[in-house]
Amino acid sequence: MKLIDSHIHVTMLPYDGLKAMAEGGIVKAVSCAVLVGAKHAESYFDHFRQNYNFYRQWAGKEGVELYTAVGVHPAGIPDDWTKVIDKLPEFLAEPSVVALGEVGMNNDNQLERDVLKAQMEVAKACNKPLIIHTPNQNRQAFVDLYFEMAQKVGISPQLLVIDHAMLDIIDQINEFGAVPGITIRKQHVLPEELLENLDRYASGMLNCDYSNIFQNDPTGVIKAAKYLQEQNVDPQIIENLTYKKAAQVFNIED
Ligand SMILES: [Zn+2]
Repeated sequence: MKLIDSHIHVTMLPYDGLKAMAEGGIVKAVSCAVLVGAKHAESYFDHFRQNYNFYRQWAGKEGVELYTAVGVHPAGIPDDWTKVIDKLPEFLAEPSVVALGEVGMNNDNQLERDVLKAQMEVAKACNKPLIIHTPNQNRQAFVDLYFEMAQKVGISPQLLVIDHAMLDIIDQINEFGAVPGITIRKQHVLPEELLENLDRYASGMLNCDYSNIFQNDPTGVIKAAKYLQEQNVDPQIIENLTYKKAAQVFNIED
């Protein structure tokens, strides 16, 4: 099985995690930006370069082709965040940079709204997909707000990835025509829940969202793919969730 993990944070991934991903069949992965507590725009610039230079090579040696998403994460909005916005088109021109992300809101304050709106405008201007995270609280209201903002900016729903989709927001995402990012881990979606609600989750793409901030499993996508296979799910549906959708959204098909 060839799999794509649509959302990881490679700079936090231990070597054993990378090995396990490669051995389990992950052939491509998208590494999203996150810099908890960042204060300076320059920190993001170095972070983006680390992702697409050092870590792309590092992962490639183990057989995982690494792509990068760039953007200001709500967990670390620098004081001079507009400098990052101004530079994003330059970073998006790198061949292995395929999206903006991880962006979104945690608290719904004006700063978070301004940063997200500015990044939506960059995504629209550069015609790149946008990976938006949903926080743990007020999820439906956040998703409504994201869609309202995206509509105003004129982003096509097929380029809007709403990540950490669960049963509470999956129908909202499908109705809007956006792409559900489905994170396989205890606090989000486990393989059994995926199977039980497969008709609602089928238009999505799986990921492990690996970071070191809480408990995560770098092999989440692999475990979900194996479980669906064992349960005799239509191979086409499994392929869409674990490869094709991400390949199409991020334009990384070969
Ligand atoms: Zn993430």
